[in-house]
Parts: sequence; structure tokens; C-alpha cells
Amino acid sequence: MSRSVLISGASIAGPALAYWLNRYGFAVTVVEKASAVRGGGYPIDMRGPAVEVLRRMGLEETVRARHVATRRLTFLDGDGDVLNSVAPTVITGDEAGYDIELARGDLTSVLYDAVRDDVEFRFSESIAALEDRGDRVDVTFSSGRSQTFDLVIGADGLHSKTRSLALGPEEEFHRYLGYCFAGFTMPNYLGLSHEGMSWAVAGRSASLYAAGDGDRDQVHGVPGVHSRRRALLRVRRPGRAA
Ligand SMILES: Cc1cc2nc3c(=O)[nH]c(=O)nc-3n(C[C@H](O)[C@H](O)[C@H](O)COP(=O)(O)OP(=O)(O)OC[C@H]3O[C@@H](n4cnc5c(N)ncnc54)[C@H](O)[C@@H]3O)c2cc1C
Repeated sequence: MSRSVLISGASIAGPALAYWLNRYGFAVTVVEKASAVRGGGYPIDMRGPAVEVLRRMGLEETVRARHVATRRLTFLDGDGDVLNSVAPTVITGDEAGYDIELARGDLTSVLYDAVRDDVEFRFSESIAALEDRGDRVDVTFSSGRSQTFDLVIGADGLHSKTRSLALGPEEEFHRYLGYCFAGFTMPNYLGLSHEGMSWAVAGRSASLYAAGDGDRDQVHGVPGVHSRRRALLRVRRPGRAA
């Protein structure tokens, strides 16, 4: 009988791992607390070994077809004047024509589509309790259902509930690095196209990133602050109180 594996989280790590475990004969179940695979997010880079992994999964061409092709990154000083404008590869070290940049949500969909027929996905579900029995793990889910697996893997991101259940409260493992940022989308009022724009002064920064063409799209906004203590960033929308 094949060994059973439970993966918590169906974003990038979850479906990618599910793909490989399924290919090597494991019986895989993935639980995701959202009601469907989550879209959204600005583009992320796939470089070097990650491209090779995609190739071995037979997904390279599918992913390459969604390549964003950022043309330039522009840096502004505190007054908003242009300091410099460069090709992204100057900064990222990406290999033009090999590395791929695509929207986070697109990558998640491609990975999910590659494995959804071979692996059981349970949405609106999450792990409520874990009992490690040495050679197996007894799991109670938020739905009340119970099941035993040979292995449980946390692929549930930054504030992983699985890690907390297995290792203790995450506060014990945090190391605050002094930087807070927020990410959101907003109207592309500057008409940016396939480019990023970044403003920075000591302790504060703000970036706009346009993955698409001109003013038809939205841009991704990412303000950030240096703060000795964790800060709560309030983003004010035009016409609304903060
Ligand atoms: C909606 C979203 C937007 C993002 N946008 C960007 C971006 O623009 N740029 C960027 O660089 N990175 C972004 N990230 C983060 C990036 O995807 C990850 O940091 C990185 O790719 C690692 O992926 P991951 O699969 O390990 O974790 P994540 O991508 O963080 O995914 C974790 C998954 O686990 C699920 N989950 C969380 N807790 C539980 C639980 N208790 N039970 C079951 N499921 C759970 C989440 O819903 C999510 O689907 C985003 C992540 C998400 C979820």
C-alpha cells in the first residue's frame, strides 16, 4: 500500500510537492483553508534550478507563455526626480531568455492544474490538531473529520499553523528584521507598462509595479518603512478616510 502524505496549503510549495510525491507513488491529500486556489499577487521570478524543475514537470512552455517581460526599473529620489532607469537584469542578475517572471496567481494555477486530477484537494479545510505517534500522525481537521497519515507537511506559508502545531508558537522563532511593507493593487494612473518604479528616502520607500500594458491595467503598490518596532501600515484610498 502506498504511504499517505497530508500537505497543508495549496499555493506554490503545496501543489509542487504534491506533484512530485504523487509521481513517486505516495497517496497525497492537500488541504487548503481558502475555498479555492488563491489568485493574486505581483509577478515572481523563476530562476536557475526552478526553471529546471519546471522543465522536469513538463510545465516549462506553459509557464513561459505567461512570462511578464518587465522592460525597465526606474529609481526616483526623494523629490520624485529620476535617478536612473535600468533593465531588470542589471539588478536581479536574471539570465534574459532563460529566467521567467510570471504572476504569482498564474504559477499557482499552472501547478494546481498539473496535479489536480491525481491528488485529492480539500478546500475550506485545515488542520485543527496533530498527534505525532512516531510512525504515523493522527490529524483532526477544522471540519471535525479525523484521519491518520504517514507524514504531514506544512506548506501553509509565512504564519504556518502546521509549524505552530508541531513546534510551538511562532513568536518563539521570529526574528524581526526592522522592515514593514504592504502590498495592494491600485489604478494605473501613471500609465506604466511592463515596468517598475521605486521611490526611496532613508527609512521609507514606495514602489509601483506594472505587469501589464499601459492604463488598461492596475499596478501593484508596495510601500515600506523601517521601524524598530513592528508597525501597522495604513493605506489611504483616494476619497476615503485612512
Ligand atoms: C494570495 C497570495 C499573494 C501573494 N503575493 C505575492 C507576491 O505578490 N509576491 C511574492 O513574492 N510573494 C507573494 N506571495 C507569497 C508567495 O506566494 C510565497 O511566499 C512563496 O511563493 C512561498 O509559497 P508557499 O506555497 O510556501 O506559501 P504561500 O504562497 O504563502 O501559500 C500558503 C498557502 O497555504 C494556505 N494556508 C495558510 N494557512 C493554512 C491553514 N492553516 N490550513 C490550510 N491552508 C492554509 C494559504 O491560503 C495559501 O494558499 C503571496 C501569497 C499569497 C497566498
